[in-house]
Amino acid sequence: MKATRLNFLLPLCLGFIISFTSCKKDDPEPKYSVPKVDLTEVGANNGKTVIAGSDLHLEAQLTAEALIQKVDVEIHQQEGSFEIKKSYTEGKYIGVKSTEFHEHLDIPEDAPGGVYHLHLTVYDKKGQSSTAESELTVRGRGPVVNNLKYGSKDVRDDGIANVGLEGIANSKLYISGEITSVAKVKSVVLRLDQKGDQVGSLVKDIDITDQFDAATGKLNAGVSIPWDMRRHPGTYNMKITVADENALVTEINSEVEVSINPFIENFELGSGHDAGDRINRIAYIGKDVHIQGDIYCLVNRLSSIRIEIVQDVAANPRILTKIYDTETGYFGAIGGTRNDHFHQHIDIPADMPEGKYNFSILVTDRQGLRYERKLNLQLKKP
Ligand SMILES: [Zn+2]
Ligand SMILES: [Zn+2]
Ligand SMILES: [Zn+2]
Repeated sequence: MKATRLNFLLPLCLGFIISFTSCKKDDPEPKYSVPKVDLTEVGANNGKTVIAGSDLHLEAQLTAEALIQKVDVEIHQQEGSFEIKKSYTEGKYIGVKSTEFHEHLDIPEDAPGGVYHLHLTVYDKKGQSSTAESELTVRGRGPVVNNLKYGSKDVRDDGIANVGLEGIANSKLYISGEITSVAKVKSVVLRLDQKGDQVGSLVKDIDITDQFDAATGKLNAGVSIPWDMRRHPGTYNMKITVADENALVTEINSEVEVSINPFIENFELGSGHDAGDRINRIAYIGKDVHIQGDIYCLVNRLSSIRIEIVQDVAANPRILTKIYDTETGYFGAIGGTRNDHFHQHIDIPADMPEGKYNFSILVTDRQGLRYERKLNLQLKKP
């Protein structure tokens, strides 16, 4: 019984509704189509890639019949919680029917690298909205190396890597610098490979991670140059590879000179043995000057050491020369040695003029290979 009654009532209802809407035909509620977003460029050349710490170029064509109310950009990690949001609620894009959206969004330096989603949503004044989506790859900022210096122990940035002999010399390639990195530094590896494609080309990978201090960001490495490299001296490509925990890698490519020449470490030149005097590069007239250093001739052995002190004047400079070799009796006891802890005091004659002098210590080995260290020396009256 109930069912028949309902069947009877329904047509009545419908008839009422139909007649009601037809009454409103003269004054229709305007209909606006939903806004449109055409995302034309994400990243430079629509590469859909951006580097953390830089800005992201975005271009889109926006249309909204009911006029644009708001534009939202949301960038979020596909896996992870990092997100960047930006809303445009005033300015040239707002209150217009159609516009070209062009913005550069800052991507923070600490944005983790990886795959992100980008959503660009346009809202119209009727509350309708449309969203365009794109994938975006954020490349994290890799480690950065500053103030890199490399070379021999004393001079540090001369680019010379002295071949060492296990257990004998401190002969090394010294590397220093500062590393900044968003993510933790995972490894620092040095690669030396002999330039050119000659037979016997050597490649060495040396892990120096343990010589990087993560707390201070300072790299201070002394890398032993393998003894077998003495057979292949010359120019090597040097590559330092710094990798962080996110596998972002920074490479520094340079060159070093793997040397089998003599070399000097821990060199001192000064007026005496008191603190500071050892390296003050001052000599007092009528007294003696302190000269000290560890001299290495690992490959070819020592032949001679020559010291020259030359007055820094244009004409007729006063010169003081001293030779240490077999003839002068210096190598009487240690002839043919590979290294020498050289420590000598040279008398400065009372009649030598005071002023600026150029000091040089020249070491020659038995093959005639040489090493010279030049320094300024000041001669003063005591
Ligand atoms: Zn742009
Ligand atoms: Zn998404
Ligand atoms: Zn001394």
